[in-house]
Amino acid sequence: MAEKPFWQTKTLEQMTAAEWESLCDGCGLCCLIRFEDEETGEVIPTRVACKLLDQHLCSCKDYVNRKAHVPDCIKLTPWNIEALAWMPPSCAYRRLHEGRDLPGWHPLLTGDAESVHRAGVSIRDQTISEASLDDPEDALDFQAPELNRERGER
Ligand code: SF4
Ligand code: SF4
Repeated sequence: MAEKPFWQTKTLEQMTAAEWESLCDGCGLCCLIRFEDEETGEVIPTRVACKLLDQHLCSCKDYVNRKAHVPDCIKLTPWNIEALAWMPPSCAYRRLHEGRDLPGWHPLLTGDAESVHRAGVSIRDQTISEASLDDPEDALDFQAPELNRERGER
């Protein structure tokens, strides 16, 4: 019988650093500028991406030093899991935290980093950079609540 993959046998807390990092599918959805609706508390994403996001690759241009550029970038860990409330439903960390499995398009299953883009889950070439805004508040004009809905196959 084939051995089960690590994400089916370990909790998020039990994973090695390498296993944890490999769970990220590279969708880029968590690098969007978000706003909290003051009345409902709902966190709404926009189509405006962090200035450090490569909008085609959907990856951080300086991941190691990102805090120096973007001090409020949240480093997700198994111990700040409550932050997952605003993470997209497709996010592997959120899925596993909620007891769901990884979807068929996840790069850990396909062995291909492009599969997240082919599945229509990522934000590849669908964003504008916050660096192009005159005023950070202009991001409010690009609210995109649909990006908080499930994307791709479940
Ligand atoms: S939303 Fe989740 S899977 Fe997508 S880039 Fe962010 S951490 Fe990775
Ligand atoms: S600093 Fe990098 S990891 Fe953090 S939100 Fe911006 S692009 Fe994403």
